[in-house]
Amino acid sequence: MLRRQSLRESAARTYARSLPIVPVRARGLTIEGADGRRYLDCLSGAGTLALGHNHPVVLEAVRKVLDSGAPLHVLDLATPVKDAFTTELFATLPAGLADDARIQFCGPAGTDAVEAALKLVRTATGRSGLFSFTGAYHGMTAGALDASGGATDVRVTRLPYPQNYRCPFGVGGDRGAELAARWTENLLDDPKSGVTTPAGMILEPVQGEGGVIPAPDAWMRRMRALTASRSIPLIADEVQTGVGRTGTFWAVEHSGVVPDVMVLSKAIGGSLPLAVIVYRAELDAWEPGAHAGTFRGNQLAMAAGAATLAYVRENKLADRAATLGARMLGRLQGLAADHPCVGDVRGRGLMIGVELVDPYADEAPFPSADEARAFGVFAPPAAPALAAAVQRECLDRGLIVELGGRHAGVVRLLPPLTLTDEQAEAVLDRFADALAAAERTHRPGPSPRPRSVPARSAPRRTATGPSH
Ligand code: PMP
Repeated sequence: MLRRQSLRESAARTYARSLPIVPVRARGLTIEGADGRRYLDCLSGAGTLALGHNHPVVLEAVRKVLDSGAPLHVLDLATPVKDAFTTELFATLPAGLADDARIQFCGPAGTDAVEAALKLVRTATGRSGLFSFTGAYHGMTAGALDASGGATDVRVTRLPYPQNYRCPFGVGGDRGAELAARWTENLLDDPKSGVTTPAGMILEPVQGEGGVIPAPDAWMRRMRALTASRSIPLIADEVQTGVGRTGTFWAVEHSGVVPDVMVLSKAIGGSLPLAVIVYRAELDAWEPGAHAGTFRGNQLAMAAGAATLAYVRENKLADRAATLGARMLGRLQGLAADHPCVGDVRGRGLMIGVELVDPYADEAPFPSADEARAFGVFAPPAAPALAAAVQRECLDRGLIVELGGRHAGVVRLLPPLTLTDEQAEAVLDRFADALAAAERTHRPGPSPRPRSVPARSAPRRTATGPSH
């Protein structure tokens, strides 16, 4: 099957390359391959499976629709299933938005909901520009791609997303976030910045594909204040961060920010395809059919999604993600102390990233990331080949993990929110083992220097970098 797949399917296939397995059964955290091997799945359908595979409440909800004789294809007509989904979703929204929100059912992918959000704010404001952020990922259709990190659309102005480890200003922390906010403010206020007031600003409260980078809460509030005072709609892309993943039901809740538009997909469909935008009624300025699509009425996904939303809410799985995620981060940070190739460990809730670096690379100013950090200089270069080796070693040990980050050097863990303590330990044990094995067999860069002997007495990049 794998051979036939590689012969017949597109060269653009992705996960199928790094995860050569043929899943035939799955339950909770576990996937079983056609060869009988079992895997702990911390990819979770790229963050989709809030309750893991085939959760009983999801299966029951789907069966109920199938047994009811309800139509499965209904375009965007009203149905009891859709009505129940919308009610459940609205019950979870930040209060300031839920009070007067509209929902638009989109084509079933996250990227289509992003397109809808961009069109909506352009229609409502009559403006065309857009603010988005370095390292962003919003999808693969043209508009969403343009808003993502690697694109070059002239209508999109890319702003620095604050980050600690690879801070574009070389300082990290609160100061780095403050400088990032000031840059944005300055662009808006400087009449000669070359940038006009945009139709909207789109951001991920935690960048996922960009390498698991949580936005500081204070920075989020600054972005809200900056946009609100200039009547710029703020779009929160919660496609990956939503439904409890980061430790609150929606990731914007960490900062208390109420966006004007929220883009939702992945987990809201309870493992089936579903995507929506919810937005302030005032923005609902477009004409009938302005964003249409044949597949906007997936009844099974709405039923599975409503069951998932209710289960996460009733069982306080966001709180569980916060507690368990913090514990897992702690253990991973402990691992980092013993492995110089672990440059950074970060995350929020059960959205966790381990950035692998080459601490021995020539351009690395110090032999370890710890020392580099202590001196306030740039982080060592990313180690994508090592990250890929860790992913392979994980797979060999029956653990499925995702890679991400600007340089594909971040190993990502996105386990289901139903993860038990024992399962979390098993995941981390396998990960630690895989990391040690990959490090042994795949030491990047030239031959390692002992950690205790600094390569140079002063960081080489200070001459051209920041003055500290
Ligand atoms: N936005 C974010 C934040 C995402 O993480 C993704 C998918 N990884 C998308 C949008 C696009 O969703 P889809 O792949 O369903 O089009």
